[in-house]
Amino acid sequence: METDQRNGAHVEVLIMIASTEKCMHCGACVGSCPKNAIFLNEIVLEFNENCNKCGRCVRICPAGALKMEAKK
Ligand code: SF4
Ligand code: SF4
Repeated sequence: METDQRNGAHVEVLIMIASTEKCMHCGACVGSCPKNAIFLNEIVLEFNENCNKCGRCVRICPAGALKMEAKK
């Protein structure tokens, strides 16, 4: 598991995971993101580097298609 050890902190590095099977392409997550970090294309959702892992999109998704995981 990768860790971020800047400043001596031991913090897990989180990555966004989107399920292409669950996602209905409703766009709710895109509209909810305060950082404009989500892009909805025809197949998968993409997240850019502006994402601060606030978790808002994960909570708002009606399909449970988004989650955050520790980067392995
Ligand atoms: S809110 Fe959920 S279902 Fe809607 S586009 Fe985002 S990931 Fe897909
Ligand atoms: S976790 Fe927060 S910043 Fe990252 S894509 Fe979701 S709503 Fe945007």
